[in-house]
Amino acid sequence: RAKETGKARCVVYSPRHNSPTEHDISLEAAMFQAVREGEFVLYYQPIVDAKTREIEGFETLMRWKHPTLGMVSPARFIPIAETNGLINLLGAWALKAACVQLKQFEEAARRPLYISVNISPRQFRNDKFLEVLDDAIAFSGISGAQLVLEITEGTLMIDPAHAETILAKMAERHARIAIDDFGTGYSSLAYLKRFPISVLKIDRAFIRDLPGSQKDGAICNAVLDLARHLSLSVVAEGVETEEQFAYMSERGCQYVQGYLTGKPMAANVAITALTERHYADLMPADAAPHPAL
Ligand code: C2E
Ligand code: MG
Ligand code: MG
Ligand code: MG
Repeated sequence: RAKETGKARCVVYSPRHNSPTEHDISLEAAMFQAVREGEFVLYYQPIVDAKTREIEGFETLMRWKHPTLGMVSPARFIPIAETNGLINLLGAWALKAACVQLKQFEEAARRPLYISVNISPRQFRNDKFLEVLDDAIAFSGISGAQLVLEITEGTLMIDPAHAETILAKMAERHARIAIDDFGTGYSSLAYLKRFPISVLKIDRAFIRDLPGSQKDGAICNAVLDLARHLSLSVVAEGVETEEQFAYMSERGCQYVQGYLTGKPMAANVAITALTERHYADLMPADAAPHPAL
């Protein structure tokens, strides 16, 4: 079976390899084909209010529906796209498509929502990035304030002076900046002072062992404290259990994103989620990303 072959081959792949494996190269060739064939799609994961569980926004997560491999995870293809520059094309498409989708989500929900989009380091540093951003906002007709751009600590630290310029331009457009995977990168806390950041997304690694782990609890509490004093919002990523949800919401975390409150889902499923109260029960089994890839 094609899917199983895909799985088996993926086990050999190591993302830490410095030189591309044979498999990377064939995957890379397939990616260019995939762009032409329209095999890339966007999924949307709810970000919910930790008090009401209402959907406040969605994170856009890219998926590659390969005809024989099945769903290929972005954790596999984004690094390749980052290396060969295809990320600029894919990222521009994702940003624009996500903004257009947000309009449709709002029409279905009949209330304001926001959209959070991942921006890779190379995309952030691309000369055309601000043009791409302006085009997405203008074409979709959303306001910049409805857009959250997720970047990692690493993206800021590659060239802090350049990052400062770009972030100032984003702020002019009222787009908000979220630090993704907060606490896992190589950076100093000084950047929280230097850059106009609005949101911290606590990485799943610090949520996974809650509420049992004292160390993770200490880290989450410290981040929530820090965010409070700096007037930043916090999103807890990867919340899978009611216990994790309760732990974070009781400690003042405003937003939660995780399998408990909604897996990444196709746009039409997201619309159902927005219009049905108990959307978690409505999710089809295939809303989850393919586990092995
Ligand atoms: P990320 O931005 O940190 O996205 C969160 C990841 O955690 C997603 O993985 C999501 O499916 C997963 N997740 C969410 N809730 C849970 C949970 O409760 N449990 C578990 N186990 N996982 C959860 P995904 O979709 O595989 O994406 C992986 C990474 O690929 C993303 O991490 C992001 O860095 C990158 N990525 C995805 N889409 C894009 C894109 O459009 N552009 C760029 N540049 N990067 C993207
Ligand atoms: Mg993200
Ligand atoms: Mg993250
Ligand atoms: Mg992550």
